Order: sequence, then structure tokens, then C-alpha cells
Amino acid sequence: MLNYQNKNNSLQNRFAKYVQIDTQSDPSSETTPSTEKQKNLGKVLVAELLEMGVSDAHLDEFGYVYATIPSNTEKNVPVICFCSHMDTSPDCSGTNVKPIIHANYQGEDLVLPDDNSIVLKMSEHPDLKDQIGNDIITASGTTLLGADNKAGLAEIMEAAAFLMQNPGFKHGTIKILFTPDEEIGRGVDKADLKKLGADFAYTIDGETLGSIEDETFSADGAVLTINGVSTHPGFAKGKMESAIKILSDVISALPSDCLSPESTELKEGFIHPVTISGSVEQAQARFILRAFDDEQLEANGELLDATVRNIIEDFPNSTYELKITEQYRNMKKVLDEYPQVIEYGVEAIKRAGITPKRQSIRGGTDGSRLSFMGLPCPNIFAGEHAFHGKQEWASVQDMEKAVETIINISAIWEEKA
Ligand SMILES: [Zn+2]
Repeated sequence: MLNYQNKNNSLQNRFAKYVQIDTQSDPSSETTPSTEKQKNLGKVLVAELLEMGVSDAHLDEFGYVYATIPSNTEKNVPVICFCSHMDTSPDCSGTNVKPIIHANYQGEDLVLPDDNSIVLKMSEHPDLKDQIGNDIITASGTTLLGADNKAGLAEIMEAAAFLMQNPGFKHGTIKILFTPDEEIGRGVDKADLKKLGADFAYTIDGETLGSIEDETFSADGAVLTINGVSTHPGFAKGKMESAIKILSDVISALPSDCLSPESTELKEGFIHPVTISGSVEQAQARFILRAFDDEQLEANGELLDATVRNIIEDFPNSTYELKITEQYRNMKKVLDEYPQVIEYGVEAIKRAGITPKRQSIRGGTDGSRLSFMGLPCPNIFAGEHAFHGKQEWASVQDMEKAVETIINISAIWEEKA
């Protein structure tokens, strides 16, 4: 039976150490990692793994950390990987993060000391209702916390330490993968899955205690270019066809009471303009298209195309081009072929004494891309909340349950082999 204990607060100490290292990624950079400073955390993680006795731990030139906890069983067990990302969001500063532990939370407002206007209220963070008596960790008011995804890092590291210290606890080969640049959508660009050599993986990057996510959006990007007709505005009657106005008409004609981010939830998708630019001669809009099933996603692209066709009919000398490109696909398609990946995840959560919550993600994860690269990979809770902002928080007790879940997953794959 599992006897994991968070001795000497080692879990929160690891977490506090990692969040104080600035690892913000940068979408405008073309290098990998996008910011060299992400390697500072990679080096710390490798040093700690080596100290635990995980002897092949290393950081590669692209800022990825790879490590192996060798099997200690005679059985032939699939190789399982646990994965978290090291970078933090470009949306909020990650410089000089000061983690604060609010012990034995009783539902009070949490006022952050470095900016008193940043206050965590239970009314605005409903998940805090389940945290009475727990120890809540926040930043100090001027930065994000970085629990996304350093909670996951700390939990995987804590589980690794447990497995290394308890050789009697049976498991197959366990792989660890820490990635850079997840927040800018490039987390798996340079991941070497051949070198990793895992059969199945779990990202530890989910929110609420007990959640396990096997479904993401399917996602396309679209670029719409309108070629209008420009003339001198003083002599334009009957000639000018403004690309700006045509594009505006298209955007106004798209549905707003459905199929847009501000009017959808749960399993509903959308067509969402993210940038526009242009002149009378030519105007361009970029869209993101989202849906949970691929046919619906295709239908969203067709609706966009039909809308443009319909509008541009009134402008005989104008043309348009619509380019749709694939971004990522719903990982459920892949995961449905390997039901044991979710089954064992659910069982691991139950064994930690928690009710599992099966959920879908209105977004993508490293796991959705890994799944289609041949490494089926659902997402498990790390206990990170209100991420990408100054109100971000996590609780020590949720994080302990995530550690137990990781250890349980390792054991269950061995038992069932
Ligand atoms: Zn994350």
C-alpha cells in the first residue's frame, strides 16, 4: 500500500524553489527554447534528479529535460512517461515571484502584500470552497505564481524521489519529460520521442483536484484575404470596392449568439477572428476555428467560406482567398484506442481517495499533440488555479494528492501487466 508522506514539507519546498526561477517564454522569439533562462530551471531539475540517483537525467540543447527511473519488476510493463512544462505564460510577469503560504485557510479574503488591490475572494474563485483547512499558496501581488506548471514539476519530482527511495514499491520503466515553451504552443516541437521511448504518457497540468482530461478541441487556423478595388476617393463612385468594408461585413455577418467564444461553453465550438489588418486595396483577418469533433470543425470552416462568398457577390471586381490550416486535433480519437490509459488514471485518482472528474479541455495541451505524434497522453490535475495572472493559486493538499496519483499510476501499470 502507498505510504507517501510529504516529509519536511519537501513538496512545497521544491515548488517554492522552482517558482522563484523566472522561466517566462516569449512568442516573438524564434529560438528553442524561446528564452534561454528556461534552462536555469532545467539545470536545477537535472541536478536534483541526479542527486536522487536518476543517473541518466540530462538537459538537451533545446531546453528539454529527459530522465529514466529504471524498472524494478520482472514483469514486462509498458513504459510510462510523466510530463510537465517548465515555462510560464507571457501574459503576466514571472520575475521575482515570491510564493506565500496561507496556512489553514478558513475562507477569508487573501490580500496579497505587494499590491493590496490583488485580493483572492471565495466568491470569485469558487474552487476555494473546497479548500477550507488547506494551505493555499499564492504569489505576492506583482507576478503570477507559476503553479502552471511548476506544481506539476514539483509533483513529478516528489513522486520520483519516492520511487527512488522505495525500491520495494514495484513499477515498470518510468520516463520523465519536462518541456519548454508550452505556453507559446511549441512545447513538443523539439521533443525527441524516439529517445524518450515511452508507450504512454500523462501530462500533469490540470486544474481541479481529481480531474482527468482525455478530450481537447480540434483546432484549425484560417487566414482570410480580401482583394478590393482602390481608386481616388474623390472619383470613386461606382468603382471603389473597399476591402476594409467587405471584411467588416463578413465579420458582422458571422453568428454572435452562437459559434463565438463569448456565447459558447462546454462542447460548443466557435469561429473567432483574432486579428485584422488592411487597407482599401487589401484586408486580412486571422481566425481560429474550434470544435470537439472534426466534422463540426470542417463545418465551421465551410460556414466561414459561405459567409464570405455571400457577401462578396455584391462586389463584382473583388476577390478573396481563404486558407485553412490544421493546428491540432482532439486527442480523444487516439485515446479511445487505448482505454486502459484513462482507466488506470481514473483508478489511480480513486486510490488517492478522490472522486475522479472526467473532463474535456476547451483548448489544447502538449498531450493533444503528443497523442497524434504516437504517444497517447491524457492530462491529470496538478492543482493549479487562476493561472496566467496575479491571482494564481494552488494548495499543498491538492498537490499531495497529485503526487499520490502519479505514484499510483506507476503501480497500477505494473499490477495489470
Ligand atoms: Zn500549463
